[in-house]
Amino acid sequence: MKLQEYQSKREFAKYGVPIPRGEVATTPEEVRAIAQSFGKPVVVKAQVLVGGRGKAGGVKLARTPDEAEEVARQILGMKIKGLTVKKVLVDEAADIKNEIYLGAVVDRNSQRVVMMASSEGGVEIEEVARVSPEKIIKVTVNPFLGLLGFQARQLAFGIGLDKSLVGQFTKIAQGLYNAFIGSDASLAEINPLVVTGEGKLLAVDGKMVLDDNGLFRHPDLAEMRDVEEESPYEVEARKYGLSYVQLDGTIGCMVNGAGLAMATMDVIKLFGGEPANFLDIGGGAQADKVAAALRIILSEEKVNAVLVNIFGGITRADEVAKGILQALKEVDTDVPMVARLVGTNEEEGRKILAEANMATATSLAEAAKKAVALSKGESVN
Ligand code: GDP
Ligand code: MN
Repeated sequence: MKLQEYQSKREFAKYGVPIPRGEVATTPEEVRAIAQSFGKPVVVKAQVLVGGRGKAGGVKLARTPDEAEEVARQILGMKIKGLTVKKVLVDEAADIKNEIYLGAVVDRNSQRVVMMASSEGGVEIEEVARVSPEKIIKVTVNPFLGLLGFQARQLAFGIGLDKSLVGQFTKIAQGLYNAFIGSDASLAEINPLVVTGEGKLLAVDGKMVLDDNGLFRHPDLAEMRDVEEESPYEVEARKYGLSYVQLDGTIGCMVNGAGLAMATMDVIKLFGGEPANFLDIGGGAQADKVAAALRIILSEEKVNAVLVNIFGGITRADEVAKGILQALKEVDTDVPMVARLVGTNEEEGRKILAEANMATATSLAEAAKKAVALSKGESVN
């Protein structure tokens, strides 16, 4: 789960990271009132869950309340990478002398949290990593010790930070690390962390990605989920306990078990098709869950064939077959489908589907070949 910039920064602030004074608004009038109450120049910032808002025109400086209202009018309602801006953050503007990068991520190779810093702040870190990787300084954190003072100083000196700022930097780096650990994050990033004209460090931007599996430990953070900002299909999937990830292909996949779902996608590609999604309906899927899964798959317009691959163990194949029929009653569709049902009650399951004129298969290879053929408009069986 991604947090909005304002949520991320407030989380960081709880751990001692300095952030600008700021308030969230949804109308230009509110923005004006906030700017008025600050009595200082402000930055109006689109709150959408994508990066590069600045470049897209979603971050604008305003010297007066009039100007703030005016830029808010431009930003609210604009589209950034397909997302409509419904909220803005109004921050007291910072007098920026220098922009640096500071981030914490899980590094799978060392199986530890790695803290990264760079003198090249304000631009996308992926770009820095590509063009000048030597400008990214990294330290690996021991989970039992946390980010130690000397490690934070190593980052500070590594990016050439002025000595007078190292004390502040250390506090911020440790704060960011503690925020990361304290909220079960998989990413926590300040880009840019700025040096102000007064010689202070300030987190001007913030980004946090939380581990969904840790969210149950943080009801306060879970509550911040902005359902309106997420893909409606992913929201629907979560409601039914389905693991669903939208992809670019045309063959919809409904599978039980994450490993089998991955294998199914591989085999589709092996036979020349492109999966439209990853979808794991989990164990013991009941008819209503299957119906929801099918509705979600078919709500994607580009899907022109569906492959159902069920290995019946706890999940009974006849239950799944009934679920498919139930879904087909609810969803009016002419998208062709092929089902591979094996395991518990497979005979019954196949019989139910055959009566509904659906193509079936016994091996995954056969099912994938048929799905690819259906997706190309060829007929099978
Ligand atoms: P992003 O483009 O989505 O990463 O949004 P940021 O919050 O990082 O803002 C983009 C850029 O706008 C920053 O790198 C800064 O250069 C600039 N910016 C943001 N806030 C301020 C501010 O308070 N004062 C000034 N002068 N520039 C700002
Ligand atoms: Mn940024």
